[in-house]
Amino acid sequence: MTAPICPTCATAAVLTTGAAVYPNRPDLAAKPIWRCEGCGAYVACHPDTTVPLGTPADAATRAARMNLHQKRLDPLWKEAWREPAYAKNGCGPKTRRSIQKAARERVYAYLAGRMRLTPAECHTGLFTREQCRVAWGVLSATSYAEIRTWARALNPKPRRERKAPSPSSDIQRIAR
Ligand SMILES: [Zn+2]
Repeated sequence: MTAPICPTCATAAVLTTGAAVYPNRPDLAAKPIWRCEGCGAYVACHPDTTVPLGTPADAATRAARMNLHQKRLDPLWKEAWREPAYAKNGCGPKTRRSIQKAARERVYAYLAGRMRLTPAECHTGLFTREQCRVAWGVLSATSYAEIRTWARALNPKPRRERKAPSPSSDIQRIAR
């Protein structure tokens, strides 16, 4: 695993554990964490791996990233199935998951476009505080219905004469 570079002081982070970062949280002691020895910025890892969730960040940036994720990004795609447009599909758990999966991709694609980022750059774990602020503004002013309309305009329905549906057509149809 290549060490992530601290965006604040350009130092390669060092892999440590929760025992060093959260001395008062024995429950997190085994968690792998990449920490910048220069400024103390840190970032946690994807579950059960040492792959960093993004770049090391200071406390204010970590809070801004978490806030954006939990209060703006996640609700947009997780609640997408409630859109009246999907009412005809019912709301069984399978349908709900299909809608959420498509909605998540749309929400991130929309945000990337608005922020002029590539899809690879559009992750809260990579955002600076300023980017969190911009994303917060964009997502606060946008409903999922608007994002759906935007996505559908970019990617119109497949032509009728298409005969063999692709394996994913079910998900696409449900989630449109
Ligand atoms: Zn640093």
